[in-house]
Amino acid sequence: MKEFNSTASSIKESIFSQMTVLAKKYNAINLSQGFPDFEGPAFIREALKEAVGIKALGQYAPMPGIPLLLENLERHFASQYQLSYDKLTSLTITNGATEAIMVASLALLEPGDEVILFEPFYDSYPVAAELAGAKVKVVTLHGDDFRWNDDELRQAFSPKTKLIYFNNPHNPTGRVFNKDELLQLSELVKEYDCYILSDEVYEFLTFDDNQHIPIATLPEMQERTLTIGSAGKTFGHTGLKVGWLASSPEISHACRMVHQFNVFSVNPMAQYAVAKGLEQMGSYSKEFKKLYTHKRDLMHHVLLESGLTPCQTEGTYFTLVPIPKSFLEQDYDDISFCRYLIEKHHTATIPPSAFYRKSDEGKRYLRFCFAKSEELLKEAGSNLQNLLKKS
Ligand code: PMP
Ligand code: GLN
Repeated sequence: MKEFNSTASSIKESIFSQMTVLAKKYNAINLSQGFPDFEGPAFIREALKEAVGIKALGQYAPMPGIPLLLENLERHFASQYQLSYDKLTSLTITNGATEAIMVASLALLEPGDEVILFEPFYDSYPVAAELAGAKVKVVTLHGDDFRWNDDELRQAFSPKTKLIYFNNPHNPTGRVFNKDELLQLSELVKEYDCYILSDEVYEFLTFDDNQHIPIATLPEMQERTLTIGSAGKTFGHTGLKVGWLASSPEISHACRMVHQFNVFSVNPMAQYAVAKGLEQMGSYSKEFKKLYTHKRDLMHHVLLESGLTPCQTEGTYFTLVPIPKSFLEQDYDDISFCRYLIEKHHTATIPPSAFYRKSDEGKRYLRFCFAKSEELLKEAGSNLQNLLKKS
C-alpha cells in the first residue's frame, strides 16, 4: 500500500479541506479554500435547469465530451487565442482540471522520467507526477515578486526531463507570467525536447494591464503543450467539475486512453451548462473581470487597513501576505500564524508551506482568497483590525 499522511509523503489530506474544517470549528470567516461564497452567473443555473429536461443528457456522455461543449471549446480557443484544436481529435472534457492533471501525468510519464515544477505549486502536481513514477525537481519562485532565478531554472533541466508543470495565472502567488518569461521557458522546453502542462484555470482572471498569454501560442509550442482549463473558476460554480485538456492529436489520444478507464465520461448536464456558458463569454468576461477587480481592491484595502502588506495580485483570486515582522520575531511560521488568525481573529487562510518542498520561503506568507462577498471581506477586515496592536 502507498504511504499516506506521513510527513514524507506528498499524498495527505489536502490543506484546503483541513482549513475549511478548522474555519467551521472556530466559526471563522473562511478565506482559505478557493471557491466563491456567492452565487455565480444565473445563466449557468438556467442552463442546468434546461439540461435536466433534455432526455439524452441523462445518459452517459461520449467519452471525450458532449459535441456541443467540444464545438464551443474549439471556437473558444480559436476566437480568444487564435489556437486551432480539432474538436474530434485534440480536446477532451475531464472531471475538472484535477482529473486533467492526473490524466496528463499518467498518459505521458514513465518511471525514471523527471518533471519540473515551480514552487509554490498547486498541490496535485507532485502527487500526480509521483503516482506516475516520475521524479520531481523543484524550482522556487522567489518572493516577494515570485520570479524564478534563471540559473536555477536551467539547472533543473536534464536529458531525463519529460514534463514541466506550469500554472499561469498562478495560484497562490497571483502572478501573471509575462511574454519574456514564457519565451525563456519555451526555449528550454524545446531545447530539452520535453512537454509542458499549462494549467490555465484562471485564464479570465487577470487585472490591470496584465494579459494572459497561453504558452501554446508561442512559436512551435502548441505541439509540446497540454493546456488545461476549468469551468469552475470562470463560471463561479466550482461544483460543476468540468475541465478540459487541449493538445496535439497524439498526446490527446494517450490522454483519452487514460481518461476512459479513469472516469470514462463527465456528467453531461454539467457539460451542457458549461457549453451554454461559453456562448456568453463575449459579454460575461468583462463583467467577471470587473467583479473580481473590485474584490481584489477591497481585499488589499482591508489587509492594508489591518497593518498587513499584501503582495501584488496580477491575476487569480488569491493574495499572498507576508507574516508581519513582529510575529516572525516571536517565532511564528505560516502554520502557527494561520492557527492564530483562526482562533483569535476568526479568519481562516491557507499556510502556503504546503505548496513548497524545496525552500522554506512559504513559511513567511499566508494565502487569502478574495472570491467572497463584499460583506464577508469587510467582516474579515473588522476581525483583523487589532491584529498588530495586540501583538
Ligand atoms: N489548478 C489550479 C491552479 C487550481 O487552483 C485548481 C483548483 N481550483 C485546479 C487546478 C483544480 O480545478 P478543478 O476544480 O476544475 O478540478
Ligand atoms: N483550487 C482551490 C484552491 O486553491 C482548491 C481546490 C481543492 O480544494 N482541491 O483553493
